[in-house]
Amino acid sequence: MSNKEFIGYAINIGKLSPCKKNKVGAVIVKNNEVIIKSYNASLHTNYAHDPETRYLTTFCAEKNAILEAKQNLEGASIYITLSPCMSCAAMILKSGISKVYYLNEYKDRRSIDFLRQSGIKVIKCEFPEYKNLKPNNLKQL
Ligand SMILES: [Zn+2]
Repeated sequence: MSNKEFIGYAINIGKLSPCKKNKVGAVIVKNNEVIIKSYNASLHTNYAHDPETRYLTTFCAEKNAILEAKQNLEGASIYITLSPCMSCAAMILKSGISKVYYLNEYKDRRSIDFLRQSGIKVIKCEFPEYKNLKPNNLKQL
């Protein structure tokens, strides 16, 4: 599969996110095969409705994917429809993933610099078909 197909896969997975505001999809690829796919979501607890704990019980797509993978991700790539937050960037580094492909840029760009400085290849996917897709309109594809 090509980079375009993998990011397309992440877009389709992201559409399944229950999050109303932003839908983000992530797929982890190893040896040219999708080994895990995930989207952003909150844990189903009352804490997810409390403004003070909501953030702590919500998992970004890439965090969910890494946690669900439960295996050595050394040398794997991750395709995300939104560049990671700092917390996820640190997790990506720790996981052994070596390449990050993203579609849209998250408001905090520090994570991209952090990953690059740590030796992770970070690539923005620029395909004309996906140009107008934003986290709040992934459904439009
Ligand atoms: Zn995150």
